[in-house]
Amino acid sequence: MGTPVNIIVGSNVWIEDASLAWIDGKVSKINGKEAEIETPSGKKVTADLSAVYPKDMEAPAGGVDDMTKLSYLHEPGVLQNLSSRYELNEIYTYTGNILIAINPFQRLPHIYDAHMMEQYKGAPFGELSPHVFAVADVAYRAMINEGKSNSILVSGESGAGKTETTKMLMRYLAYLGGRVATEGRTVEQQVLESNPVLEAFGNAKTVRNNNSSRFGKFVEIQFDKHGRISGAAIRTYLLERSRVCQISDPERNYHCFYLLCAAPQEEVEKYKLGNPKSFHYLNQSNCYELVGVSDARDYLATRRAMDIVGISEKEQDAIFRVVAAILHLGNIEFAKGEEVDSSVPKNDSAKFHLKMTAELLMCDPQVLEDALCKRVMITPEEVIKRSLDPLNATVSRDGLAKTIYSRLFDWLVDKINFSIGQDPNSKSLIGVLDIYGFESFKTNSFEQFCINFTNEKLQQHFNQHVFKMEQEEYTKEEIDWSYIEFVDNQDVLDLIEKKPGGIIALLDEACMFPKSTHETFCQKLYQTFKVHKRFIKPKLSRTNFTLAHYAGEVLYAADQFLDKNKDYVVPEHQDLLCTSKCTFVAGLFPQIAEESSNKSTKFSSIGSRFKLQLQQLMETLNSTEPHYIRCVKPNNLLKPGYFENVNVMQQLRCGGVLEAIRISCAGYPTRRTFYEFLNRFNLLAPEVLEGNYDEKVACKRILEKKGLAGFQIGKTKVFLRAGQMAELDARRAEVL
Ligand code: ADP
Ligand code: MG
Repeated sequence: MGTPVNIIVGSNVWIEDASLAWIDGKVSKINGKEAEIETPSGKKVTADLSAVYPKDMEAPAGGVDDMTKLSYLHEPGVLQNLSSRYELNEIYTYTGNILIAINPFQRLPHIYDAHMMEQYKGAPFGELSPHVFAVADVAYRAMINEGKSNSILVSGESGAGKTETTKMLMRYLAYLGGRVATEGRTVEQQVLESNPVLEAFGNAKTVRNNNSSRFGKFVEIQFDKHGRISGAAIRTYLLERSRVCQISDPERNYHCFYLLCAAPQEEVEKYKLGNPKSFHYLNQSNCYELVGVSDARDYLATRRAMDIVGISEKEQDAIFRVVAAILHLGNIEFAKGEEVDSSVPKNDSAKFHLKMTAELLMCDPQVLEDALCKRVMITPEEVIKRSLDPLNATVSRDGLAKTIYSRLFDWLVDKINFSIGQDPNSKSLIGVLDIYGFESFKTNSFEQFCINFTNEKLQQHFNQHVFKMEQEEYTKEEIDWSYIEFVDNQDVLDLIEKKPGGIIALLDEACMFPKSTHETFCQKLYQTFKVHKRFIKPKLSRTNFTLAHYAGEVLYAADQFLDKNKDYVVPEHQDLLCTSKCTFVAGLFPQIAEESSNKSTKFSSIGSRFKLQLQQLMETLNSTEPHYIRCVKPNNLLKPGYFENVNVMQQLRCGGVLEAIRISCAGYPTRRTFYEFLNRFNLLAPEVLEGNYDEKVACKRILEKKGLAGFQIGKTKVFLRAGQMAELDARRAEVL
């Protein structure tokens, strides 16, 4: 990366460091291929010359707002630039047209206010300081001027600031495309108010983010021919279901449960709620309250937001009744019944919660108890009722809770979409994607597998956009360009999604075959991908596998893959709820036409459905002009003022930022049509214009006159090396 510069004794350089990523120093000796470097603290380090990078001593102290303006573009330069900007609360930096956003973990005054919006409106990209508004503005202008749909892809790890960024983008687009207040609710208001509603039901406190979205989201904002917002559609991806009944300290369950417990007294009494500590689904963790957040206030705010997005009072009551029912359901404990392997509600408390659950869901308590504790077996000869032992009854209970909750969430999304409304005549749209970044933990399960699959897809899209577009442009213009190699990730994608034979397909097969276990599934993977270079079987393991993702290797524990892939509503649960006397509850469980297929093998695959959703998302994205925002989390303390080098570096690598910089700088990052170029720089050589040359020759003359080298003249455009545009602009400023 960067231009090779001779390093001599006395040069100021950067060298790699395990804990700080990069440290600076002065070369004190050179022995063949080795350099000895003295750091400011007086320490002497030796390093291979090829791993030593020159330090730009003239780099502006406050950094530069676009990485492509760095005179020495390399990893340490990039890192230094970001960290010195962060210190000044400059959280945004461009890399060409990618925006890097570093989470400030504090409200920065004024940078998102109405005055700022006004400033960015219509301002040429790059003229003002880097900002999310600038990206939204470019997307909006491009849509208006070219009539083409645009998308803004926001990525980054959990807590990096994706959701906040998305909300800012939506606010700015609503500002640009909003109407002067008409009567009632406007579309843009509804779009904005969908955020607090979805956050109440889809966000939770995790160790990595106090308001972590546990689902992916693509918001498609539709515009009419006047550039006004005329409709919107929200698509969500993979809500984390397990959180409903299982949380670990110091995390929390979904916000809505705590909000409801903090609701006005009459509601708490109506639902027989009270202290969240008394509910099993909440008291597995010791965290109940969030610093700086009032659940009571947020409850009312959520209700108001629900009003705005068009959820009626009656529906709201039903929604919270279901939320309360889930809390009571979780408190139904089981004990051994009289018959072998049977179970009954453990005590009076369990009986009370059973009664409450039934009351709130408006179904028969005895039928509820049976649905939890018994299974109906249909054999060719007869119908048998089999009892579940207490452990299995508990599994059944938790399954029911998860199913109800995820149906409730889907209902909310559908309802919001319905009430905002879609514009069938929409000319173009701007899509905003807020989706989980690459994840790699100590143990990784099916969720990480799906998340990382998503990121492979998005990375490919990014690659294609940045790299292929770049190369295509050079080829089209017939200019010299030594093709840069980049690691394509099509092979990982095939490994995961190919049909037949990919991991998802093999998983589905395993799920349909009653005798499969996670061990047999893994054996099958080991056999099938024995020689695949992206698949690694860990030594000694029988149930783990490692995938070599574009962002690094991830070890997956397969022991819950089969269970987590099955989206299967137990028929007893379905029967119970579709006959609820509450139309809302019954509506969540529409009666499906009796299928002829064998009930025991019928299952719907979460992996395959997700794959299909992703495919549709990619199709949408491919029909748009993309813009990228990479959010970075500067530290894991979630506090302002800490910039952890190694951590940030890893994220820049995962987000493809380093790769993009490398590619764009190796080529010609700046390009202008002959006309644009002459328009801007004719001042530099008025005599050239008088010479009546054709445009192409005129451009060349100007560049030569100014002593520039290394640029290229294509068929219709001038291609400049990094930094040359700035040089020309500076000359132009002298003349002006
Ligand atoms: P993600 O969606 O990437 O998981 P969030 O957008 O929820 O992360 O951000 C996590 C937290 O970081 C937010 O709750 C907020 O406190 C803080 N934060 C993120 N972006 C900003 C910003 N631009 N200004 C101030 N605080 C921010
Ligand atoms: Mg989020």
